[in-house]
Amino acid sequence: MQIDYLIIGQGISGTWLSYFLQKEKKSFLVIDNHYSLAPSRIAAGIINPVTGRRHVEVWMAKEILPFAMGAYLQMGNELAITVLSQKNIIDFFPSPQMRQSFMQRVDEKADYVSSYPEQNHFLNQFNYDFGCGEIKPVYTVHLDSLLPAWRKQLIVNDQLLEEKFDITQLKVADKIQYKNITADKIIFCDGKSSATNSYFSLLPFAPNKGEMLLIDAPDLSPTHIYKKGMMLVPLSTPGQWWVGSNYAWEFDNENPTEEFYTKTEQLLKHWLKVPFKITHHLCGIRPATLERRPFVGFHPLHPAVGILNGMGTKGCSLAPFFAKQLANHLVHNEPINSEADVNRFSKILSRNIS
Ligand SMILES: Cc1cc2nc3c(=O)[nH]c(=O)nc-3n(C[C@H](O)[C@H](O)[C@H](O)COP(=O)(O)OP(=O)(O)OC[C@H]3O[C@@H](n4cnc5c(N)ncnc54)[C@H](O)[C@@H]3O)c2cc1C
Repeated sequence: MQIDYLIIGQGISGTWLSYFLQKEKKSFLVIDNHYSLAPSRIAAGIINPVTGRRHVEVWMAKEILPFAMGAYLQMGNELAITVLSQKNIIDFFPSPQMRQSFMQRVDEKADYVSSYPEQNHFLNQFNYDFGCGEIKPVYTVHLDSLLPAWRKQLIVNDQLLEEKFDITQLKVADKIQYKNITADKIIFCDGKSSATNSYFSLLPFAPNKGEMLLIDAPDLSPTHIYKKGMMLVPLSTPGQWWVGSNYAWEFDNENPTEEFYTKTEQLLKHWLKVPFKITHHLCGIRPATLERRPFVGFHPLHPAVGILNGMGTKGCSLAPFFAKQLANHLVHNEPINSEADVNRFSKILSRNIS
């Protein structure tokens, strides 16, 4: 089989890269082993314009977020499914200090934050002592609909191989050869697997473990995402909610912890006034990077080997934009943003091979 591109992974990164290459009428094959705990399969899908305790605007917000909105809406229309919903965050302040810090941002007229006009509006569902603010616009990507729908499309077009990619079978020269497949380039969109891949393992990956609970809480109003230490996110199945998360930089296994379960259950018992039932406790490894910027582009010594990875905690926001940049780079030779281009690590990557 002769194709233009071989893509490894159909998480949110591989989904968007294959989507944009499809638009460019390029031939490709995606190999994906459908790992059920891949972060793309357990994430809440939040697209949040602010980050951190100070609620500062996320990196490249003004470019990346409008692009992501347009891309998700377009893909949703083409697949005839809803892939995006606006769900602004109601931020219940856990302390007077947090309230003060939020209100200071409101006074500074910071984008995306505002005080919520009816402070008592949520008292029938939640316990909260220090008021609440609103972060908007915030969106959730319905990953549970989008990823399977795109996968189905790939299968219909004979563009998906459902198996584990075995790097020992890869031969790299001007083109690449994998089993009976010859391609101009291979692009790794395989999340944490790239951190142990011989071509890219020296990139400064900083894998990060995150846990979440799924709960049934049919009496909660699904109009918003709610936040109080953790996020409580309405899912597309009515009555089902996502609760999380934590961020562990050091871990010796990939299993969910009793500590997270107990802490989150306690938080929910204090916070919610409505009944809830915990149904799942899952855990995934975010493909995060030390300097919190993605890895996009091609190996300096092996231009046939590329990567779209390092999406960290923000794959839903970043993946459409950088997949499009990578596709434009491949097809139209356009530049990749220098903060994301793996070229910034060309010395390290060259050392890897010699
Ligand atoms: C608990 C949690 C909550 C999160 N919440 C959010 C959120 O609200 N918003 C947000 O934007 N981000 C969130 N994230 C981060 C987000 O999930 C990631 O940034 C994003 O999913 C990374 O996508 P990816 O496609 O690059 O990698 P992955 O999701 O890891 O996908 C990689 C794909 O490659 C496949 N694969 C890997 N190795 C192989 C192999 N050898 N052979 C074949 N296939 C292979 C896997 O099966 C998988 O399908 C969260 C993460 C976690 C863990």
